[in-house]
Amino acid sequence: MTSAEIKAAARRLGADLVGIAPVSRFDGLPAINDPRTFAPETRSVIAVAHRIMRGAFRGIEEGTSFQNTYGCFGKNWAEQFFLAKTVYDLCCEIENDGAEAVPLLSRKYADKEFEPDYQAYAHVCGLGSTGKGGFFLTPEYGHRQRIGFIFTTLELEGDDILEVDFCKECNACMDACPLNAYEGSGTPDLSLCVHCRNGAFTNKNSCDKIDRYAASCGRACMVALENKVGNKFAEKFRKRSVWSRGRDGEQLNLGNQFTGGRCPDKFEGK
Ligand code: SF4
Ligand code: SF4
Repeated sequence: MTSAEIKAAARRLGADLVGIAPVSRFDGLPAINDPRTFAPETRSVIAVAHRIMRGAFRGIEEGTSFQNTYGCFGKNWAEQFFLAKTVYDLCCEIENDGAEAVPLLSRKYADKEFEPDYQAYAHVCGLGSTGKGGFFLTPEYGHRQRIGFIFTTLELEGDDILEVDFCKECNACMDACPLNAYEGSGTPDLSLCVHCRNGAFTNKNSCDKIDRYAASCGRACMVALENKVGNKFAEKFRKRSVWSRGRDGEQLNLGNQFTGGRCPDKFEGK
């Protein structure tokens, strides 16, 4: 299969984004991050992404639902079912053509020898780049995607590497953090994020460790980029003022009048 055929197949199988890198672009990575540590015959890496639909953030934005939209359709099922199925099906098409295809999600397992760095991988595959707030940003969806990979023995033409410059003069994610976890830098203090009761989830298998896409910081990024990304909507995402909670769960801002910004204790990132 050629790069063009792989991209067409990925789109047909449900991918929203697909990018390709020759394995030489991974030269110089520590062995623990190098695809060839995992699969020595790898010649190309394919990045496949599914968008996280905007509607999956609605319940957390309104303080009305934390699991039964984002937890399922934005997080667990989005990665483990929908994205995994596209990656699997594309691997099968590649293997039908006689090349080996190794499927991989952006997750960290108990393997001690290999830890994929999904942001570095997606960057060299041409999907986008990491923004100031620590989110991987693409021109189409901003921070709203989950990304899987295929290591293949096929020699494929790579995509251009893309630098996304959305963060110029923007600090929305940092300004939105109720715990001041960024402390003026682009890397949030995860020892604070682990206590975040503003839509963050601990995710021990995720390479991010804390799933921050729907937290105050992630939703602020989505709002900041809604006129800049390719995936545009007829109406603005943010309809009401934002609810927030402090380090110990105290209500800092009641948010919208309808829900009072309630955040059920059992879903607060625990
Ligand atoms: S997850 Fe919570 S504490 Fe961490 S940066 Fe985002 S809003 Fe701040
Ligand atoms: S909110 Fe602004 S500064 Fe933060 S990651 Fe998004 S675009 Fe960059």
